[in-house]
Amino acid sequence: MAEHEESSQVSVTVRVPAKVNVQLAVGAARPDGFHDLANVFLAVGLYDEVTVTPAAELRITCTGPDAGQVPLDRTNLAARAAIILAERYGRTPDVHVHIAKDIPVAGGMAGGSADGAGALLACDTLWGTGASREELLDICAELGSDVPFSLVGGAALGTGRGEKLTPLDVGGTFHWVFARAARGLSTPAVFREFDRLAEGRTIPEPVASEPLLHALAKGDPDALAAAVSNDLQPAALSLFPELADTLAAGREAGALAALVSGSGPTTAFLVRDAESAGKVAEALTASATCRSARVAQAPAAGATAV
Ligand code: ATP
Repeated sequence: MAEHEESSQVSVTVRVPAKVNVQLAVGAARPDGFHDLANVFLAVGLYDEVTVTPAAELRITCTGPDAGQVPLDRTNLAARAAIILAERYGRTPDVHVHIAKDIPVAGGMAGGSADGAGALLACDTLWGTGASREELLDICAELGSDVPFSLVGGAALGTGRGEKLTPLDVGGTFHWVFARAARGLSTPAVFREFDRLAEGRTIPEPVASEPLLHALAKGDPDALAAAVSNDLQPAALSLFPELADTLAAGREAGALAALVSGSGPTTAFLVRDAESAGKVAEALTASATCRSARVAQAPAAGATAV
């Protein structure tokens, strides 16, 4: 009955991209435990779709290959987004939020953040709050460091904890392959491992790489491949050593660059063109060093109502 009632109501669907960090420079742990970052985000064409429909009360459902790992309670970032927006506008978050999940869960591709941004835009559209872009970005920053970027998409430099965004120019399409790992990695655990490995070392201030920004602006895959970096990669590999085999398999298959995506364990392979992407994806799948491999292009648009 509830389903029938819901389906007769208007619903709003928002499509939100995953991200890869083409640079992730991590500073020393601050007194509050967070790290300053210079984080170059690139939105990639792997998407979650978040649909909101009026309902008697807030509930979350999820479908997709990793759906079983997604919390369906109020800790879900999509639920939190609906609750925060409703509170600000003095209403109840009485919606059914459905997440059609294609972004790997706990994969270092900001899947939860994507759902937070998607639910926020979807609820905002459904409720017609008239919230400004700045207000939505402010709620995104409250939800998590990666959430503002999920809303804006494209490419951006994130500083502070990653949430202060400066949009970046991208001069062409970049082709990528993403390998899904057999299990997830917790982002806080990877930062703890980073701190452990950093003990006794002087960690430089994180700054964006000029050659990398230039490569993005030119749309030059060779220059980008030479410039990509991820300071969290040693920590992710320390916690998940088998990822080194996946990286090697992608390089052997012709990837221009192979790196851990964000805090991992998804691995990202920059390739020259669509044909090479197909070959690298096939080789990675055949190598049995990952659960599956997918091709995607970048940059992708941010959260968009469909
Ligand atoms: P990031 O790249 O931002 O560090 P991630 O891609 O590694 O994040 P997520 O997929 O966002 O990781 O999931 C991290 C954890 O967040 C999950 O293990 C899950 O418990 C929780 N979570 C909350 N909301 C969601 C959601 N909508 N989808 C997936 N996970 C969620």
